[in-house]
Amino acid sequence: MVLIFAESGDGKIRKAGQEAITYGKRLAEKAGVSCTAVILGPLDHPEDAGKYGADQVVHVTGPAFDHFDAQVWARAISDVALEKQAGYVILSHSSRGKALTGRLAIRLNAACVSGANDIPDLGNGCLVSKGVYSGKAFATIRLETDVKVISVMGNALQPMTDGAPAPVQGLAWSAAEPRVKFLKSDKVEGTVPLPEAEKVVSAGRGMKGPENWGIIEELASELGATTACSRPVADSDWRPHHEHVGQTGIAIRPNLYIAIGISGAIQHLAGVNRSKVIVVINKDPEAPFFKAADYGVVGDLFEVVPRLTQAIRNMKAAG
Ligand SMILES: Cc1cc2nc3c(=O)[nH]c(=O)nc-3n(C[C@H](O)[C@H](O)[C@H](O)COP(=O)(O)OP(=O)(O)OC[C@H]3O[C@@H](n4cnc5c(N)ncnc54)[C@H](O)[C@@H]3O)c2cc1C
Repeated sequence: MVLIFAESGDGKIRKAGQEAITYGKRLAEKAGVSCTAVILGPLDHPEDAGKYGADQVVHVTGPAFDHFDAQVWARAISDVALEKQAGYVILSHSSRGKALTGRLAIRLNAACVSGANDIPDLGNGCLVSKGVYSGKAFATIRLETDVKVISVMGNALQPMTDGAPAPVQGLAWSAAEPRVKFLKSDKVEGTVPLPEAEKVVSAGRGMKGPENWGIIEELASELGATTACSRPVADSDWRPHHEHVGQTGIAIRPNLYIAIGISGAIQHLAGVNRSKVIVVINKDPEAPFFKAADYGVVGDLFEVVPRLTQAIRNMKAAG
């Protein structure tokens, strides 16, 4: 059977969790087995995992799940995997997933692939494909152990939403005293998190300094978009680190990505080049980003961006 760790938070199954469930479902169909979603911590409607493809749900509760602790959570997931005799353990390649994948592989004596972008080919063993070299090439990896752990790249597939609610098995789980002590967490409020955003307005070093970000926020607000930035911008503390997209930042795949004053280095593109529509605003017609763009505006961002925002306002006002 296929066991899927479905990430949840704020009372719902997160988009990353939905994608992992649908991935697990597709894999289970290929393998001719059933799939079970495991949900850790409070969630009002765990049966909703069925909408995204889960045949069954194991809902594990206990104080250990009030805060994320990779060691404790990996132990809980592997306990369920062993009990259910899972042949595959699927999770998302999110920050939590990245912390869990290796730990689960060790606990389950499993081969693992992190960041898979397609359903495994089961024709000749279990072949899993993933992007390498900043997405410039694909590697195909054969997993030869009895248990296989696969984390799924964000936005690798569209979650299904038409499944039926799944039967839920409740499980109370208590952990030994954790080795990590939780002190506090700071949560970003009010915006759609980047991995889940449909529209993203992103800006780079062409902005010259943090004091100029007002025009980016105005455009994002008009579009209902989430803001992002290039790495040097976050490294210089012009913007918070959670906005950094790219190879070493968050990988995103929105419907619309507007890149403003960003050159389009390969490491930046690695995290954004799977966006559906890319719009680039740059004063340098030779900027590499234009090669990846669907639409390009060659011009000074300090003129172009306010005019674009105004044009959107006018369009909205005209209905
Ligand atoms: C191992 C490694 C990992 C990395 N990971 C990442 C990553 O995850 N994400 C990431 O972003 N980078 C990453 N980088 C850095 C990356 O190589 C680039 O240095 C970085 O993306 C450049 O950021 P930028 O485009 O904002 O700045 P710049 O390269 O300085 O580009 C600024 C752009 O703004 C334009 N511009 C300037 N003024 C204006 C104006 N007035 N109007 C319009 N356009 C203007 C310029 O023409 C230029 O194209 C990584 C690098 C390494 C070595």
